Amino acid sequence: MKIQQYHRATSLEDAYNVLHAGSNNHILGGALWLKQIAKEIDTAIDLQDLNLHEIEQTETHFIIGSMATLYRLETAQAVNEWCDQLIKNSMQHIMGVAFRNTATIGGSIIGRYAFSDLLGPLLVLNAEVEFYRAGKMTLEAFLNERRMPQDILVAVHIPKERGQSFFKKVSNTRLDFAVLNIAMFKSKKEIRIAFGSRPGVAALAKEAMKIINQTPSWQEQRETLINALLEELKFGNNQRGSEAYRKQLAQTYLIRGIEEVMHNDR
Ligand SMILES: Cc1cc2nc3c(=O)[nH]c(=O)nc-3n(C[C@H](O)[C@H](O)[C@H](O)COP(=O)(O)OP(=O)(O)OC[C@H]3O[C@@H](n4cnc5c(N)ncnc54)[C@H](O)[C@@H]3O)c2cc1C
Repeated sequence: MKIQQYHRATSLEDAYNVLHAGSNNHILGGALWLKQIAKEIDTAIDLQDLNLHEIEQTETHFIIGSMATLYRLETAQAVNEWCDQLIKNSMQHIMGVAFRNTATIGGSIIGRYAFSDLLGPLLVLNAEVEFYRAGKMTLEAFLNERRMPQDILVAVHIPKERGQSFFKKVSNTRLDFAVLNIAMFKSKKEIRIAFGSRPGVAALAKEAMKIINQTPSWQEQRETLINALLEELKFGNNQRGSEAYRKQLAQTYLIRGIEEVMHNDR
């Protein structure tokens, strides 16, 4: 990747203005993905002086700065204690530690990568994303937006909710992208379930969630649950797996995940 000019931003406003000054200007996260997709960049905008590396907490939320690395979040004890290690479990399967020490949260979310192992867990944790200009919105709303925002992702907000979690990434080799991933979180109020790498981007299985959250004896509803899931979410083919294989995996891990979060709640 060739970078014509390097700009070390002095404020978010400064970074935003430079981003909008040219269509081939880009924010730098860890640059791991960027270097795969961009041969040449006019201006690379570095956010390192803007204090976005931190993970902070309020009474109700964890606030993850967009320049925090994946490894920093993976090893953030407080966050992982609250979410029953869901974040840690999902990230451990992404390449190696050196890689996760470079890849940033901002760079991992903004691209809405279909293969992402992070988006599903953040969806079931009801995370919100905070942009410099567009402000805060739910991660789900951001994933459903038609256009990619030309904005700066400042932070991710994760509500403090205790519960039981389940995460499974199925991949053909340890370092490959997922054929399918599933994240589940059972809070005091409800179970939330997301499937990613279908091969579409992670999405909540809302119909299955409705059934499980309204039916105390869910075991009798297995077939209904599975049908609701397969009708609502689209599973397809790509070079990593077929639609039929993905559907089979989805059914298996839907039931396994529910059993696990229910069992661990006893
Ligand atoms: C070889 C390889 C294997 C991978 N395997 C997996 C995997 O198995 N599972 C998985 O979940 N992920 C995987 N990833 C994705 C990886 O985890 C990161 O999500 C990815 O590298 C992006 O993070 P980054 O910090 O390097 O972002 P960059 O490459 O720096 O940026 C990516 C994009 O986001 C923009 N950007 C960065 N930060 C901001 C910000 N704060 N505001 C606005 N825009 C911003 C950049 O301009 C760029 O367009 C893989 C990536 C690679 C390269």
